[in-house]
Amino acid sequence: MNDKPVLPKNEQIQFMKDTFPGMIWFSGADKKYYTFNKNWLDFRGRAEQQEVEGLFTNDIHPDDLEEYKRVYNASFDNRQPFQIKYRLKRHDGEYRWVLTNATPQFDDQGLLTGYVASTLDIHDLAQEMILRDEFISSASHELKIPVTTIKVYAQLLEDFFDRGGDEKHLDFLKKVNKQVVKLTRLINNLVESNKIYDSGIELNQSDFDFNKLIIEEISRVQSEAQKHNIVVTGYIPQNVYGDREKLAQAFNNLLDNAIKFSPDADTVEVSLENNNETVSVTVRDYGIGIKADEKEKIFKRFYRVHDNTANTFPGVGLGLYISSQIIKQHGGEITLENGSSGCNFKITIPYDNRT
Ligand code: ADP
Repeated sequence: MNDKPVLPKNEQIQFMKDTFPGMIWFSGADKKYYTFNKNWLDFRGRAEQQEVEGLFTNDIHPDDLEEYKRVYNASFDNRQPFQIKYRLKRHDGEYRWVLTNATPQFDDQGLLTGYVASTLDIHDLAQEMILRDEFISSASHELKIPVTTIKVYAQLLEDFFDRGGDEKHLDFLKKVNKQVVKLTRLINNLVESNKIYDSGIELNQSDFDFNKLIIEEISRVQSEAQKHNIVVTGYIPQNVYGDREKLAQAFNNLLDNAIKFSPDADTVEVSLENNNETVSVTVRDYGIGIKADEKEKIFKRFYRVHDNTANTFPGVGLGLYISSQIIKQHGGEITLENGSSGCNFKITIPYDNRT
């Protein structure tokens, strides 16, 4: 570590200060903030000297300050770029959501000279996102009660027509029920993804036979599959400790997607593998595949691939988000490999995430 403050070259700083349209600061290798450009000072309503002397971090919202300091210090110590969203007091006293992107700077010998960071006021956008999340949350809760009621009465009617031997109406009701099940699944996914986004996932863990879970889920999906044959290989010799229901949900999402996104294929392959510490299950399909540059994005909430092929499939982009969060909470990961055709999604989790 170079502990003498070494600053980036003056002319570089001046050039950026004069030309950069956003808000910027420079810090030295000693982690102190040394220079701010005009846009930053206008936003803050300060002269540069004031901003250098009076630590601007005192004007970060108290709820965001600890995380800001943690990210700043950790990135500095590891010489890593960082991005952080936090609330910063504007000249009129209002806290505004801002987004800072910071990059480490090095001299010719490769020694750290400090950081340069650009900051954007994203407050209006952030407010819109908060409103959107609130809308999704309240709309899905409002939908839950009427749909549950419809489901109960449709089920009662189905039983009624079944007992009376009324095949025609029974068939209608079965169709209604099938759609209600889809709707319920969608609403549950929305409610669940909001919950995960706000407060994470709570696991209800126990020891269980992983093979049995996989076979049960495959049978369930297989019984509804029109065309595909699901083939399974491998065996996990030991029990797994985890949330059985949630792991089933994560696996089920991969299986549903494998079938949905491979309409022209007739096989989905599932393979189980293990080593001393981890177990994994791979779901392989021979469908439309996913382009390399979409690989990371598909795990984001609401993300769906938009191209001519993918647009024709129904969905809202929550399954992989929920699955990846479930697996993350177990201390594992989901990875995606593209084969010559189709996708290879692999879930890996530790046998026991307590050890
Ligand atoms: P949904 O299926 O509801 O759209 P997901 O979160 O499960 O949402 O998947 C996100 C996106 O990732 C999908 O919209 C699709 O574009 C892509 N995707 C997921 N699984 C596959 C797959 N097996 N083959 C091709 N594309 C896939």
